[in-house]
Formats: sequence, structure tokens, C-alpha cells
Amino acid sequence: MIELLFLLLPVAMAYGWFMGRNSVKQNQQTEKQDLSIKYSTGLNYLLSNQQDKAIDSLLDALKVEDDSVEAHFAMANLFRKRGELDRALKVHEHLVRLGGLPTKAKQQAVFELGKDFLSAGLYDRAEKMFSKLLKSKTYGLKSISYLLQIFQSTKDWQQGLSHKKLIIKVNDKRQLHTLANFYCELATTAFEQDKFIDVIELLEEALALDPNSCRANWLMAKIYENHDQCEQAAQCYQAIYEQDKEFFPDVIQQMHDCYTRLDELDDFYKFIKKVYDETASSSALITYVNNIQANNGHKKAKEFILTALKRRPTIRGFQHFIKMQMSQSDDVDNTSLDLIKELISEYINIKHRYSCRTCGFNSSTHYWSCPSCHEWEQLKPVRGLEGE
Ligand SMILES: [Zn+2]
Repeated sequence: MIELLFLLLPVAMAYGWFMGRNSVKQNQQTEKQDLSIKYSTGLNYLLSNQQDKAIDSLLDALKVEDDSVEAHFAMANLFRKRGELDRALKVHEHLVRLGGLPTKAKQQAVFELGKDFLSAGLYDRAEKMFSKLLKSKTYGLKSISYLLQIFQSTKDWQQGLSHKKLIIKVNDKRQLHTLANFYCELATTAFEQDKFIDVIELLEEALALDPNSCRANWLMAKIYENHDQCEQAAQCYQAIYEQDKEFFPDVIQQMHDCYTRLDELDDFYKFIKKVYDETASSSALITYVNNIQANNGHKKAKEFILTALKRRPTIRGFQHFIKMQMSQSDDVDNTSLDLIKELISEYINIKHRYSCRTCGFNSSTHYWSCPSCHEWEQLKPVRGLEGE
């Protein structure tokens, strides 16, 4: 009898396994049915414009191993794009809290939640989220970029600079350029307090991070001039030309004043001639023509500017030509020339002097950070017929 029981044991085990498998299958099937009911309920809510109910239903259906995690990210991002931040926050917060989510998806949820907070203007919470991701391979650099954006908005330059080591390590040129401008902001405050050594040190830090920061050289030239170190200032102006030829027309007058103090105007005009030959800038042309007029007379200056305007006509160049003509004509002629000059001046005044090379924002005032796209050192004199 006992032998018979032993013989039946494998049969019982096989039966148990078979029934167990069926039971698991049945459970899985019931679960799937439940999920599809929740999903279709959620979709129905979405279609009938009851988005809050739809979110609750879809979040309820969300499971860690479920492929729908990606769909939830897409849904939340869509809400954010539509400005429905409370809904985007709800979905992303749910994903962050969801236990057992793979690391990459978890980091994505934290990152997107940070973007939601940033869009809502909740900088402290956004900062908290992005700070959690600094070591992430996928989101580390992107998070630093958002953190710098936050510190730029809150003018917390020191906080931004606390991430310097990390940014140097990844050698991201854009972020280095941003940090250089953070140093320039600190230097501007020190400049207003006339702290010479502090300004120089801060600007040297800026140039070490971004050797192409013409703003650093521009400020350095100013502080050197204020402290009667015009030779150093002159070097800074020359460096600005090498760094950013498009920005250079804005410093020509300051550079002229600097070389006047140095009593080296010949060198200045030699440099300006080179600038004109290389860039055909109207500011460089006007400055150089003034020099010809002073040294070689009106006739030579007129010949030079006419040839230049035929080669590359600009409204500002033409305005200067009219001024030159007025200085040489009699009273009767001056009336009509004066009218033309007035018209041109008014036309130039309604035109913007600067345009952002990144987003196209136009302005009559110069800003180091574009008011529209917030990029640094992108507002430069307008080129072409109405500009430089
Ligand atoms: Zn811009």
C-alpha cells in the first residue's frame, strides 16, 4: 500500500503543477482584463474632456513592468506643453513615487518633474530635482544646464559657480561660457565699488573658463582705463577684435579715447584701417574717414568714402557722407542737405541697433544676456544696409 502511495506521488505533483499554472494564467488574464478596463475608462475620460478623471484612472492602471510608463511620460509632457502644469506635475510625481521603476525611468521622472517646477516658477523645488541628477550619465549635463538657468534667473551667481569643477570636468563650452558671464556679473558689482584687484581677479577667472569672453575684456579695459593703465586697456580692446569682430564696432569710440590718452593715435588708425579692410564695418569706415579728413583734407576723405559706399552701401555711411558735404557747402545748399540728414537720422533712430544672433530679438539697448532667449553675449550690432 505504501509503495502505491509512492507511485502516486509524481502524479500528484504533476497535477499540482498543472493546476497551479492554470491558476497563474487565470490570475494574469484577470489582471490584464482589469488593466484594459482601467485603460479604456481612462481613454474614455480623455475623449470626453474629463482629464483629471482620466489621469486618475490611467495612473491607477500604471504598473512598473508595464510598457505604458513611456506613454505616461508622453502624456505628462503634452500637458506641460499645453500649460496644464498641475496635471503634468501629478503624473510625474506619481512616477517618481512609484516603487521599483528602473533607474533610467526614475531619473527621467525626476528630471521631468524638475522641468515642471521650473515652468511653474518654483525654482527651489526645481533646483532640488536637478541637483539629484548631477551624477547621472544621461541627465547630469542637462540638469546642470537647467540649474544654471535657475541661478541666472535668481541672480545667484555664486551658487552657479559652485558647479564649476563639474562643468570643467565635462568641458561643456556653452556652460563654461555661461559661468564666465557669472564671473563678469560679480566683476560688474566689484567694478561699481571700484575694487580694482577683485575686478581683475574675477575677470581673469572668466577668461580662464572662456578665453573668447569679449565681455570680460571689455570690463577689464574699463577698469584699467579708470586706473590710468591705458596700455593694458589698449591690449584688451585689441583682444576684443580677435574674440568677436561683430561686437567690436561698439568699442571703437572707447578705444579711440584710450589711444588718445596714450598719444598713439597713429597706431589706433592703423588698427582701424585693418578692421575696415577685414570687416567693412561702417563704424570703422566713419572713424577712418575722419582721420583722412583731418590729415589729408576733405577731397581725399570724400573720395575714400564714396569708393567705400559704392563697394558696400550703408545708411550710416551715407549719413556721414552728407555730414561731410554739409561741412563744406554754402548756406543755401545746407538747407536741402540738412533735410536729408534729418530724414536719415530719424530713419536710423527707429531702427534697432542690436539683434540677438541666437533668437533674432531686436533692441536699441545692449544687454549682455538676451531678454528673450537669455543667451549670453549674443546681442550684437545689426549688420547690413541699416547697420554696420
Ligand atoms: Zn536671444
